[in-house]
Amino acid sequence: MSNLRRFAFPVFALLMLALPALPVPDFWITQSNYIGLYALVALGLVLLTGVAGLTSFGQAAFVGVGAYTAAYMAVTLSASPWLALLVGVALAVVFALLLGAITLRMSGHYLPLATIAWGLALYYTMGNMEWLGKYDGILGVPTLKLFGADLGTGRGLHVLIWLFALVAALGCANLLDSRPGRAIRSLKSGSTMAEAMGISTFRYKLTVFVLAAVLAAVSGWLFAFFQRTVNPTPFSLTKGIEYLFMAVLGGVSHVWGAFLGAAVVKLTEDQLQVLLPKLIGSSGNFETIVFGIVIVVVLKYAPDGLWTFVVRKLPRADRKRDWEDAAPLPARDKPAHGELLLQVEAARKQFGGLLAVNDVSFEIRGGDIVGLIGPNGAGKSTTFNLITGVLSLSGGQVRWRGQPIAGLASRDIARHGISRTFQHVKMIPEMTVLENVALGGYLRSRSGTTRAMLRLDRAEERQLFAEAERQLARIGMADRMHELAGNLALGPQRLMEIARALCTDPALLLLDEPAAGLRHKEKQALGEVLRQLKREGMSLLLVEHDMEFVMGLTDRIVVMEFGTKLMEGTPAQVQASPEVRAAYLGTEH
Ligand code: ADP
Ligand code: MG
Repeated sequence: MSNLRRFAFPVFALLMLALPALPVPDFWITQSNYIGLYALVALGLVLLTGVAGLTSFGQAAFVGVGAYTAAYMAVTLSASPWLALLVGVALAVVFALLLGAITLRMSGHYLPLATIAWGLALYYTMGNMEWLGKYDGILGVPTLKLFGADLGTGRGLHVLIWLFALVAALGCANLLDSRPGRAIRSLKSGSTMAEAMGISTFRYKLTVFVLAAVLAAVSGWLFAFFQRTVNPTPFSLTKGIEYLFMAVLGGVSHVWGAFLGAAVVKLTEDQLQVLLPKLIGSSGNFETIVFGIVIVVVLKYAPDGLWTFVVRKLPRADRKRDWEDAAPLPARDKPAHGELLLQVEAARKQFGGLLAVNDVSFEIRGGDIVGLIGPNGAGKSTTFNLITGVLSLSGGQVRWRGQPIAGLASRDIARHGISRTFQHVKMIPEMTVLENVALGGYLRSRSGTTRAMLRLDRAEERQLFAEAERQLARIGMADRMHELAGNLALGPQRLMEIARALCTDPALLLLDEPAAGLRHKEKQALGEVLRQLKREGMSLLLVEHDMEFVMGLTDRIVVMEFGTKLMEGTPAQVQASPEVRAAYLGTEH
């Protein structure tokens, strides 16, 4: 069975490319052409909407950009179709960059709205421009010729359409299984964790938006030579919604879901167009209504799309462990023992009327293990967020090795070697433990989107996975690396976060309640890991509720209450302090 996965793609690709040579009726070749064209667009939406969580209703408009460029350049300018492909793709990139730059920094709803506006605007532009033939469009597009052979609009073009679709699918599948791909897959879970690992979430949102637009434009370019005429109708908002429907129906987070969705929609649409008028007795666009109902049903009963039903039947393929002899990732020069690392100077954070952190100061030197304790709501996590740039300071300063870092983006602070875990575990549940931990190695690696799509990133991937496994082994979780992170219990998830933070090769590690939710044995193991880190010279700032745990581990403890620093001292001093006792007893009763 495990061979099924390996051979599925080559067999499918071969079948689709050879289809025109087989005794398949013309009707089915035409259908297959449509499916290939639609799948290209849906593929972009799988990445954009399914994987990255960004919804676009405007993909049909990008198809239109590709199609109109092809038709206009072929008919009016008699230009080479290959030049038209370049120009169409370039135009789509420019439009996507403009649209993305304006909306992708804003919260989630602006992009869907902007894509609706873009879809409508382009539709009316195409319909009203004299030079684009208004609503009649551009007629008489010639057929494509390749190496002297006329591809026509049927069997010949089928090969080209499916070549594009299959190569695109392979590129997208490669991308998802890579360093930039993991960054893209992290977009859906909010930006805090990804940014803390050094990922520019804006950049990757823009990347997938542009990529989806390019795939749509390529589909449009092919469409023009397939239909040999273009007019605004196939590029309307309605069509944009239909593309989204294909991606959702097929399987929003699976590359092959795009093909399944495109096929199911195209084939049922044809059936419905014949069947519905017969049933209802009058003609109209009834299939739209039926699709509307179907989409509601699918979202309710198969929110991940139809492809999940196929995936469930396939054996799970663990990643082959091919990284044993990989070279280590680059590591940073570690700070010297006793070197002044972090200075928190009168840090202050105000949430409206609430003073969550009130002029708190302390410092951490190389090799220090500092505890940060205090009752619930004392401001410990907020202090973490101020240090790591998740929140901006209302006052005060934070310095790293003498340099002010307040105001820097979270990902730039990560670059300095400050890494952290979160009180409420932040991870990508549908990625394996290994992949989650490999996210920590993001800043120590460099492969970009193009390299990943072309599969030129494998050597670095091996390095990343070797490092991720090494860090997992360090916390005793190497045997669980292939499990889905979302299937782990809370304790192991916390440990996984520590491994991910260690994977960044930090100079200072901030752990927010690492022992919360851990069983006694796990807690002891964690204590041992932290002591080992201490022996290696790692500097740690540790928020913890379990007094016993902090007492045995830390050199110094900072106590906070109601946002204010109550005292700082050795574990013994803190334990003996009547104020600390009062603070804890006072809130616990
Ligand atoms: P601790 O980690 O010590 O339990 P926190 O730092 O999480 O405490 O919270 C300190 C105080 O700030 C709490 O009263 C909390 O409700 C408040 N707080 C934390 N984050 C926010 C936020 N983003 N907006 C408003 N209030 C917040
Ligand atoms: Mg907290």
